[in-house]
Amino acid sequence: MKSQLQQGHSFIEKDIFSQGSPGRSGIDIPTGGIPSVDPLSILGQDSVRGALEGFPELTEPEVIRHYTRLSQWNYGVDTNLYPLGSCTMKHNPRVNEAVARFPGFANLSPFAPDSSAQGSLRVMSDLAKWLCEITGLDFATLQPAAGAHGEFTGLLMIRAALKQRGNARGKVLLPDSSHGTNPASATLCGYTTQTIKSGPDGKIDLEELGGAMDETVAALMLTNPNTLGIFESQIEEISRIVHEKGGFVYCDGANLNALMGKAKFGDMGVDVCHLNLHKSFSTPHGGGGPGAGPVCVTKELAPFLPTPVVTCNDGKYSLDSDRPQSIGRIHGFTGNFGVLLRAAAYILSMGANGLKEAAEAAVINANYIKARLEKEYHLPYREPCLHEVVLSDKLQNKYDVTTLDIAKGLIDRGFHPPTIYFPLIVKGAMLIEPTETESLETLDEFCEAMIDIAKTAEKDPASLKNAPVTSPRGRLDEATAARNPQLRCTLC
Ligand SMILES: *Cc1c(COP(=O)(O)O)cnc(C)c1O
Repeated sequence: MKSQLQQGHSFIEKDIFSQGSPGRSGIDIPTGGIPSVDPLSILGQDSVRGALEGFPELTEPEVIRHYTRLSQWNYGVDTNLYPLGSCTMKHNPRVNEAVARFPGFANLSPFAPDSSAQGSLRVMSDLAKWLCEITGLDFATLQPAAGAHGEFTGLLMIRAALKQRGNARGKVLLPDSSHGTNPASATLCGYTTQTIKSGPDGKIDLEELGGAMDETVAALMLTNPNTLGIFESQIEEISRIVHEKGGFVYCDGANLNALMGKAKFGDMGVDVCHLNLHKSFSTPHGGGGPGAGPVCVTKELAPFLPTPVVTCNDGKYSLDSDRPQSIGRIHGFTGNFGVLLRAAAYILSMGANGLKEAAEAAVINANYIKARLEKEYHLPYREPCLHEVVLSDKLQNKYDVTTLDIAKGLIDRGFHPPTIYFPLIVKGAMLIEPTETESLETLDEFCEAMIDIAKTAEKDPASLKNAPVTSPRGRLDEATAARNPQLRCTLC
């Protein structure tokens, strides 16, 4: 049997190689009277492929059903809550998609001269201005294609500025809760990294920082709110310690929906930051599509911005590449323009108050989840959280139930699991980010699923070890799957 119903309309689907039958074909069109020829006689042996062994032969409806069924296995923000911490999987208003498809923008050649690209250049100029307003910094580049790319760009600018002062320095300091891209970007930029231990409250330990900060340190890279969802309330003092020794403060602003409209990095003493437009500013995140990680900087770092920079003189916009101190180009043309358009449309449609309300809703939603789950799950940090909350499996460990079992149990209860085992400083971490676009009903359903799992852990822990049991695939042996991948799966 080719396929069988599993539950209701949820299909189990075999791989395409075990479907169809020799001689079936997707299309059946008349030859149009053109005589058939033997390709071998025209092209010769070298150019003609022999028979393909095991090549699937299927009809059009079989192919359409196959891929439609596979698509129904997909889970995304359009299906249900996707509480992946540090990822901001939120609803992106479709109106911004529509704007990105306006023919005047979508059909403009990237080779168009500035004089015939005034509208697009203005969008970039305005967006850069708005992002500077939101972050409290002075200048921006829109070129970087992702958060990590923005980090790399920002660090290159810091290095160029230090080099001009006479010494590029050799080290970047990072808190132990930092996102993995931070040390990776610093290393790629030629810096060694040194980890700063967090205090028991999950924040940067000022004494540790003071001890590590000296004239060999180029920058402190921190995330605020940090990856535990906690605001670094001593940020001004942190910046002072770094600046006193001539270093720069880099702030990872990938998750700006905790702060936008509420607090500005510039006011906190930050010199450079990146934002993930594909998290906070209306480009879907997680599908592997294009992103944008604009970088905002202080006046001091502006000469080092990547070229070209959009400028405006007498109401005429142009791309300026004549900037001798620039670190150079870091992306083809002007970056991922469609992503920039979505962000500009999002900011305009939300307005300043809308962005502020979004930040408030993101924070309230995360605190609601924290309050509803803090009895059933261990809370490593009791501080009020911002846009995300970290729980751990400590209470469930006594029944031999782990974070992985809880995550898999969520799948059986209709939810995508949160980020698990990150941040690394919390054993068995579950990092939950509900985002501002979820309703109270959805948050309640999620919390009830989590509470049900906590109860199941107590009464019937063995059942969680088998989870998930309702998905097309059960629990994978992840180590073997990574080391010995079977890319042609045979289900059923
Ligand atoms: C997502 C994220 C990044 C990396 O962004 P990419 O676009 O995936 O490169 C960096 N830092 C933090 C805190 C993030 O959440």
